[in-house]
Amino acid sequence: MAQKLTLALAGNPNSGKTTLFNTLTGSRQQVGNYPGITVDKREAIIDHQKNSLHIVDLPGIYSLTTYSQEELVARNFLVEDKPQAVIDVLDASNLERNLYLTVQFMELGIPVLVVLNMMDEVAKRGITINTAKLAKLLGNPVVETVARSGKGKEHLLDEAVRLANLRQDQAWQPLVISYGPDLDPVVDQMVSVIQEHDFLTHSYPPRWVAIKYLEEDEEIIRLGREENDDVAQELEDMYAAVNSHCQKTLDTHPEALIAD
Ligand code: GDP
Ligand code: MG
Repeated sequence: MAQKLTLALAGNPNSGKTTLFNTLTGSRQQVGNYPGITVDKREAIIDHQKNSLHIVDLPGIYSLTTYSQEELVARNFLVEDKPQAVIDVLDASNLERNLYLTVQFMELGIPVLVVLNMMDEVAKRGITINTAKLAKLLGNPVVETVARSGKGKEHLLDEAVRLANLRQDQAWQPLVISYGPDLDPVVDQMVSVIQEHDFLTHSYPPRWVAIKYLEEDEEIIRLGREENDDVAQELEDMYAAVNSHCQKTLDTHPEALIAD
């Protein structure tokens, strides 16, 4: 049966998202705006294997923390529009740096297709990437592309459709990462509070909300106060306590521990 699937193209700036978007969608694009930001919103609907794919080119971002308008817009699109999958475009010649964002998508739990773009650059520089091993380590499908020439684009669409259909009606499956002995117990306590009150869980996974509190994410703090001021205060107090503990004993902030 024909399915309409929404796929979000996301990744660091200059990883090749727009080039890939153009190769995938040709001239069928529409250009609009994201609310409150000057970045163009490019989207298109294409057919692939009897599926109708709604592809959206998100602004380039380095993380899902709301330090910038771009990050806020990209994150809100993911949690509000709930695309069936993220097509995470990486500059494969800068793999390690680009994987930081990939892990953030995985923590959110949204299905992720990892696209190793710029494979021509990788070859030119004599770098070898064990794609199968990377896929196994991440537990996500990984495909290789050269967006400029269109190489790998059919395989990318096949894998994106397969992933989106596979996870179609399932809840997101957030990856659980340990943040070490100083933060893990606090994360668990926060998760209990969040679950008990269904606090922001209509849009976000509980553990993810807890981590955003530890990162002092402005948007989550704002939404939290709107949703339930008492619970928000309790979480902010928990953050304040662990923050002062981290500063006294480790001379650092929780945010820095998480990024590490
Ligand atoms: P975006 O910021 O993620 O949208 O990236 P763009 O699509 O604007 O691409 C950034 C630059 O990388 C442009 O100069 C592209 O022509 C180039 N580029 C994109 N894909 C590839 C690729 O696969 N190989 C090479 N060598 N360059 C690419
Ligand atoms: Mg772009």
